[in-house]
Amino acid sequence: KLENATLKAELGRATWKFLHTMVARFPDKPTDSDRKTLETFFHLFGRLYPCGDCARHFRGMLTKYPPQTSSRNAAAGWLCALHNMVNKRLEKPTFDCTKIGDFYDCGCGDDKKEADK
Ligand code: FAD
Repeated sequence: KLENATLKAELGRATWKFLHTMVARFPDKPTDSDRKTLETFFHLFGRLYPCGDCARHFRGMLTKYPPQTSSRNAAAGWLCALHNMVNKRLEKPTFDCTKIGDFYDCGCGDDKKEADK
């Protein structure tokens, strides 16, 4: 089947939004289990992302730059840096990772207490 650059870009935008929003909600002080979960997530993501060339390139970056999971800031900074590597490769402007702060807001409000779930 022919490549459709519009659909590929749309999927990319939606995915980056999801990934950055996900790490923006990662705990400041993650447990070992939180850390392992995030690391495993990105490895599975690299196996399953539907654009094959993108996924292959992403897996290469994962090998060179393993997921940083020690804190929310570490994870957000790591993902921002990886996205910038993709931006460079596609000749897109890079993002200032020091300004990522509250850029990705999930709009979910405060999490409900466990008991209210
Ligand atoms: P996107 O790169 O999709 O970014 C969306 C928005 O995120 C930007 O408008 C900006 O507000 C913000 N942003 C930009 N940089 C950062 C950053 N560093 N950190 C945080 N926020 C940022 N396409 C290909 O053609 N070839 C590939 O190999 C390829 N690999 C990809 C790998 C992955 C894992 C993903 C998720 C996507 C990949 N894509 C690839 C798609 C590509 O990265 C873009 O998503 C797509 O081209 C649309 O680009 P865009 O200009 O709308 O901005």
